[in-house]
Amino acid sequence: MSGGDGDKQHRPATRLVEVGRKPEWTGGRVVNPPVYRASTHLYPDEASRKAEGPRNEDGRFYYGRRGAPTQWALAEAITELEPGAFGTTLYPSGVAAIAGALMAVLRPGDVLLISDNSYEPSRMMAQGLLKRWEVEHRFFDPLDLDAYEAAFCERTKAVWLESPGSLTMEVCDIPALARIARDKGAVSLLDNTWASSLGFAGLEKGCDISVMSLTKHVGGHSDLMMGSASAGDKFYRRLRQTSQQLGQVVSPDDASLALRGLRTMGVRLEQSTRSALAIAEWLAARPEVAQVLCPLLPGAPGHDLWQRDFTGGCGLFSFILKGADNAARARFVDKLELFGIGYSWGGFESLAIPFDPAHIRDAMRWPPDGCDPEDALGIRLSIGLEDPADLIEDLARGFAAMGEA
Ligand SMILES: *Cc1c(COP(=O)(O)O)cnc(C)c1O
Repeated sequence: MSGGDGDKQHRPATRLVEVGRKPEWTGGRVVNPPVYRASTHLYPDEASRKAEGPRNEDGRFYYGRRGAPTQWALAEAITELEPGAFGTTLYPSGVAAIAGALMAVLRPGDVLLISDNSYEPSRMMAQGLLKRWEVEHRFFDPLDLDAYEAAFCERTKAVWLESPGSLTMEVCDIPALARIARDKGAVSLLDNTWASSLGFAGLEKGCDISVMSLTKHVGGHSDLMMGSASAGDKFYRRLRQTSQQLGQVVSPDDASLALRGLRTMGVRLEQSTRSALAIAEWLAARPEVAQVLCPLLPGAPGHDLWQRDFTGGCGLFSFILKGADNAARARFVDKLELFGIGYSWGGFESLAIPFDPAHIRDAMRWPPDGCDPEDALGIRLSIGLEDPADLIEDLARGFAAMGEA
């Protein structure tokens, strides 16, 4: 969906409230667009039916697969929050958005450069689906700009970026990586789920397509799955065409929930960022912790780049245990009462998940520099909206349980 609404001069907190609320979609008399549950759209007469199909423009009734005001309002809200975006396509999950965006820009014979610390299903997409479509891939270390630049060849047509990296949280120099891609004639795509457009203006920083899993911060309540891809005019057209051909559509009920989540995303992110920093500081002083991988934390890896390029953070970060074995790590996680064990993040509730990334790193080292090779067991935390003092007490009980062999 493309279009414009609200006052672009307003600050992000205000934008979150006003975007996507066109009177023709809300009826003008209610705050939110109704949930239009519709496969069939009706035409007043035969002439308008004949005119509508070929027009294929955003924001027009046609048939359920092109959405209705509930989905249009969400897509437009996301576009309006992403500086430099012309339009946004919605997908039934973040992974579907990743697939949709890559399929929009790649064709057989192309080479994709993919950041080694990308979300595991993104890696698997390169190794599986894209390979079957005869797209080759090369993993690269996003912290080594020289090796990255040298990895381009004539057939390199796209670059997949993510910052901070999944699980291991390396902050990458996205403006430099995107600039090099552009100089080499490749499209740069960014998985911007961690920061969202509130914390990192992906397109403004040089990327061509910005992808988010809306399942995380936008949904915010662990009750829906959705993804988005936003881009300027040229790439939005390609995203939209591919998405239509793939038959991608999101349910109006989920779109309505996502819009509801979006309205409070700013305050939720602010709160969980503040709590995450307090908890990261506390963890950094614990003897059981070898390293805290949290861009928000002064002195932590990537903090300087985060300060330079980001306008916000979130509650997701990792830490590495010092000299612990698998059984001790399991005792830690099992003891936690406020942290659930689960793969997702970005909800109102806190989560913890152990991770061992060595098998999903080809171009980067794990454990990272500065860590004893014995210290390789990681735990990722998603800090929710609980009182951070309670979360710290919970983590302290976890550490106590680690010692009880
Ligand atoms: C969760 C996640 C995705 C995938 O989103 P789904 O909605 O779960 O399909 C993509 N990228 C990142 C960084 C994620 O954390």
